[in-house]
Amino acid sequence: MAVTIIIPTPLRQYSGNKDTVKVQAGTVGEALAKLTGEHPELRRHLYNDEGQLRSFVNIYVNDEDIRYSRKTETPVKEGDSISIVPSIAGGVDTTETLEKINLSNEEIRRYSRHLIMPEVGMEGQRKLKAGSVLIIGAGGLGSPLGLYLTAAGVGRIGIVDYDTIDESNLQRQVLYSTDQVGESKLTKAKERLHGLNPYVQFDAYEEHLSSENALDIFKDYEVIVDGTDNFPTRYLVNDASVLTGKPNVYGSIFRFEGQASVFGLDDGPCYRCLYPEPPPPGLVPSCAEGGVFGVLPGIVGSIQANEVIKLLTGIGEPLQGRLLLFDALKMSFRELKLRRNPECPVCGDNPTQKELIDYEQFCGVESSWSEYKRDAEYEIEVEELKQLLDSGKKPVVLDVREPHEYEIANLGGELIPLRELPSRLKELDSAQDIVVHCKMGGRSQEAVELLKSAGFRKVKNLVGGIDRWAQIVDTSLPRY
Ligand SMILES: [Zn+2]
Repeated sequence: MAVTIIIPTPLRQYSGNKDTVKVQAGTVGEALAKLTGEHPELRRHLYNDEGQLRSFVNIYVNDEDIRYSRKTETPVKEGDSISIVPSIAGGVDTTETLEKINLSNEEIRRYSRHLIMPEVGMEGQRKLKAGSVLIIGAGGLGSPLGLYLTAAGVGRIGIVDYDTIDESNLQRQVLYSTDQVGESKLTKAKERLHGLNPYVQFDAYEEHLSSENALDIFKDYEVIVDGTDNFPTRYLVNDASVLTGKPNVYGSIFRFEGQASVFGLDDGPCYRCLYPEPPPPGLVPSCAEGGVFGVLPGIVGSIQANEVIKLLTGIGEPLQGRLLLFDALKMSFRELKLRRNPECPVCGDNPTQKELIDYEQFCGVESSWSEYKRDAEYEIEVEELKQLLDSGKKPVVLDVREPHEYEIANLGGELIPLRELPSRLKELDSAQDIVVHCKMGGRSQEAVELLKSAGFRKVKNLVGGIDRWAQIVDTSLPRY
C-alpha cells in the first residue's frame, strides 16, 4: 500500500528537507521502518534506546491517534497519510455578577459591531466585561492575544512576564516599538493596552511563573492562555490549570508551524494527555535557535484569542478534543482528534500527581540554556579560545550551524551543520584539538556528544557559542 508520511517542520532537517515521504507499507510500524531506513538520522528522534516510539512523538493515521488503535500495528490502506506530531518548544459562575454588569453609552458605541451581531449582542458583550483571562507570556503570542482581548472588551486581563524588550523581539512582538528596547515588557504592554481600551482592568504579574505562585495567581481567572515559549512553563501552566479546574487555551509556534487547542474543558484532554513527557533538552530546538516566521505568532495568537472570546461568551464550538496544526508555508490547516487519557497523571481517572512539581527538573533543564550532559572537561570558554588562537596553538574551529547562519556571522573555521555531521566525520582528524561552536552552545553540545561517541577525545564545546563570542571577544560581530 502506498502511504504518505507527513514530516513536521522540526524534523525536516533529518529528512533531506522533504515535507512528505511516500512509502509502501501495510502497518504504521512498517511505514516508519521504511522511513527511518531511508533517513537514518530520524531514527533517534522517533525512537528511544529500547526501540520504542518516544512519548513526546505522537503518530496519527489520517486524523486518528494510533495509541487508541493498534499502536504501531495499526494497519494502513492505499492513500492513507501518517502524521508525525512532535511536541513543540503552550470558571467562575458569572450569572450573579452578570446582573450587575452594564455597558455605558461610550462602551455601547465602542462595541457596536459586536452588539449588532445576535450571536454576541448585549448579553455576550456583558459576559466579556464580566470575564477574566490570564495570559502567560507577553511575547509573540501574548501580543495579538493582549491586543484582541483588550479590543474585544474582556473585563479583566492578567499578564505574567518578567522580561525586557529586546531588539530581536520586534520582528513579531507587535505590542512594542523601537524606542522601548531595554524597558520592561509588562510596563509597556500595560500602557499600550490601556491606551487601546481604558475600560479594561489590567493586572501585571512581573515575576517568573513558578510552582510556588501559579495556583494563587490562576485562582482569580476564568480562562488561562498559554503563550509561553519553553517546556517547563508549558507543563506548569497545564498542571496548574487542571488543578484549579480552568480551561487552558494552548498555542505553540516553531519556524513555520503552529499548534493550537483548548485543554481541560469539561471532560476534554489536557496537554499531558497529548504529551505525557517533554523531549530531552537540546533535542527540540527553541525559537531562538530554530527561528520563527514573524507573522506566525500573529496567526496562532489570534486563534487563541478567538477561542477565549468564544469560551467567555459561550458561543460556537470550542477547539476542544482537537489539535489544530497550521503550516504557514503551505497555508494549510489540519485537525487531529484528541482524547482524554484515562491514565494521564494529572487529569486521568486516578491522577498520581495532585500538586505542582519542580518543572525545571521534570524537563531536565537546570538553567536557562541546555545543561544536556554538561561536562567541564569538554568545555571551553570564549576567553580561553581567544588566547589559544592568539598563541598560535590553533585548534580546529568547527561550526555546526547552518550555512545561512554562517553567512550572518562566523569565526572562520570549518562549517559542517549538525545534521550532516554523522555522515561527514571522516573530514575531521581525531588527533587534532577541535573546538565546536553553534549560536548559543546547544547544538554544539550535541555535536560534542556525537564526536565523543565516535572516539574523538580532544573535542571541546564553546560555552555560549558565537553569541557569547560576539558579546565578549569581538563586539564588532553582529548578534542575531
Ligand atoms: Zn491529561
